[in-house]
Amino acid sequence: MAASAAGSPGTVAAMSDRCDSCGDDGPDLATVQRIYVVFDEQHQPADHRLADEFETWCAVCRVTYPHQEVSGED
Ligand SMILES: [Zn+2]
Repeated sequence: MAASAAGSPGTVAAMSDRCDSCGDDGPDLATVQRIYVVFDEQHQPADHRLADEFETWCAVCRVTYPHQEVSGED
């Protein structure tokens, strides 16, 4: 019974095992795009834009900061 050597070091998935925001290594990490809020001259939130890169966030950061979750499909 031959075992194939799958998953050699350095070829793991792109998703990190720590939160990119706070550094926590919680069990409930998800890939998100941060949402940046744009303020006008009166310092009121006028618009928002999506970050152009993906981050890995823990559950606490996903509750605390505006973001959009990224689905698992590539
Ligand atoms: Zn976090």
